[in-house]
Amino acid sequence: MKFWILKLEPDSDEFSAFALKFARKNDTLFNALAKTQSPKFLVFACSDSRVCPSHILNFQPGEAFVVRNIANMVPPFDQKRHSGVGAAVEYAVVHLKVENILVIGHSCCGGIKGLMSIEDDAAPPQSDFIHNWVKIGAQARNKVKDEHKDLSDDDQCNKCEKEAVNVSLGNLLSYPFVRAEVVKNKLAIRGAHYNFVKGTFDLWELDFKTTPAYAFS
Ligand SMILES: [Zn+2]
Repeated sequence: MKFWILKLEPDSDEFSAFALKFARKNDTLFNALAKTQSPKFLVFACSDSRVCPSHILNFQPGEAFVVRNIANMVPPFDQKRHSGVGAAVEYAVVHLKVENILVIGHSCCGGIKGLMSIEDDAAPPQSDFIHNWVKIGAQARNKVKDEHKDLSDDDQCNKCEKEAVNVSLGNLLSYPFVRAEVVKNKLAIRGAHYNFVKGTFDLWELDFKTTPAYAFS
């Protein structure tokens, strides 16, 4: 308890080190950032403490507008549900005019494990939010269960970590302002998977063939 409070105190070693490293040595950068931000990336990453996107990709302040949630999910466009995510996407694309959206899945994802453990005909588990949230990736879960039923649970989860990213990439296209920028070639959408045990980072482009619901006409 005491330890983490100390980390947040302005005169703690941790905070002083941060201030010294970033604020004092980069006063030009921070003075510019005080006026505006113009990040090139909107990044979706898991809330998991092991997969901070700024650490993985060395983003500096001002470079990435970041949304973190359980299992790095992008829900489909819906003004009545999950509006916090919708507001972040709208702000990043319409106002900040980011040029890239990157959705990063990761190894050993507890949210994906939870998604894969949902049974078709079982009663929902005791959960106020998590169950309904991870079901955003139900399409990925069903695909993996259908196509990889012979794999171990761990290997199925690994497949689902990547398939859930693809579902999110497809869902991004259900946002009209995202679609409009992609059509104009002003916005690129990519998926990624970070394995923090092996130290690998796989990157791929949005595959329109896997997103028939939002295929371009
Ligand atoms: Zn996760």
